[in-house]
Amino acid sequence: MRTVALPRSGVHAADQASAAMLRGSWYEIDLDAICHNYRQLRRHLPCHVKVYACLKRNAYGCGAGPVASALAKEGVDGFAVASLLDAIAIRQQGVSQQLLLYPGALPAAAPTIQSLDLTVSVSSIEELEQWRAAIPRLRVFIKVDLGFFRAGATPFDAGKLLAAAAGLADVQVEGIYAHMSELPTVQGSDADEQLARMQAILREASGFGWRPAVVMMSSTEGVLNHPDLDFDAVDPGALFFGLPESDKPTRPVILRPALKSICSSLVSVKRLDASLGPVPAIFGKTPGMILGVIGMGWGDGLPREIPSGAVGLIRGQRARLLPPAHLEHIRIDLTDVPEARYGDQVVLLGRQGDQSITHEEAATCWGTDIVGLYAQLRDHIPRIYTQSKGKPQ
Ligand SMILES: *Cc1c(COP(=O)(O)O)cnc(C)c1O
Repeated sequence: MRTVALPRSGVHAADQASAAMLRGSWYEIDLDAICHNYRQLRRHLPCHVKVYACLKRNAYGCGAGPVASALAKEGVDGFAVASLLDAIAIRQQGVSQQLLLYPGALPAAAPTIQSLDLTVSVSSIEELEQWRAAIPRLRVFIKVDLGFFRAGATPFDAGKLLAAAAGLADVQVEGIYAHMSELPTVQGSDADEQLARMQAILREASGFGWRPAVVMMSSTEGVLNHPDLDFDAVDPGALFFGLPESDKPTRPVILRPALKSICSSLVSVKRLDASLGPVPAIFGKTPGMILGVIGMGWGDGLPREIPSGAVGLIRGQRARLLPPAHLEHIRIDLTDVPEARYGDQVVLLGRQGDQSITHEEAATCWGTDIVGLYAQLRDHIPRIYTQSKGKPQ
């Protein structure tokens, strides 16, 4: 019987750069841009306002661990995530700042939460009791809903929840927070009203002698446009990745995009001949077509429908992507790039030679917006991080 020798350390030990080589596809993430965006924010915030970086959804696809590590070195005060996997990735980087769990994990995950030293969110007395039963010395942020109609106690229930939590010797209430945001369909529940609701909750709390150490309600939209909502801390997320929520923010930050490129490789190249029959009409008629195959597909976060006008960059030229998309493969028309070779790099977002595919172009082409582009980034695709002087990390 033949056995296959595997390297003892296995592929898990491979660093991101060699993982990119193994797969032939990768995302290039600019940690400098993320740190720059943080410094922009910090410059416009009063000193006493803490920044909790919201790194949910694996830091908007950019990798929670490395992003947290870079921001921790910049002096960010804390972090917030919804998924325990993101919390694990952050702690594995040796990041020791306060780490808040948004609603997401359940008390069944108590041992992991304790070992990672996390602060949990609590939105009701029922939640509080379940968490207390699971974790002996519980640390919580009380979450309130000010008009977003998502998780969080209603303003009516918030006072009772705070009073209950504040009266428990085994529970440490570290703060109170809300996600100031508006549903597109809701009329009239604006930032001022949400602020008034938060103030009413705080008045009620001070009525029974309680003042939370941290009050927080501003994410990217709030921190850019409503300085009156700063309170003690803010928890923006999109901002770090260069995704401004408005074109002309009140705080004139200049943000840089974190995602520098989406790269893949040609895994097949051939000149079509008559033995295959006629070129399918779906490709657009191209006699003597040179067909390339890119090693990335809709299972890797690329669009399932290839729109007309979608291109990849190869050998510094724009070449048409051809429908339909497949799970791990997409075709590209290389007829006008006859010098293209098996193994060549294909850029699907970013720059190659004189050509570039901007975030705006990619988002339009993929039928999404720029936040949607980041949300499509998949965790199984390796990321290459660039830092100071463009040197790969
Ligand atoms: C997503 C989220 C944020 C950050 O929102 P951005 O718009 O990305 O800044 C902050 N707080 C909570 C509770 C969130 O869910």
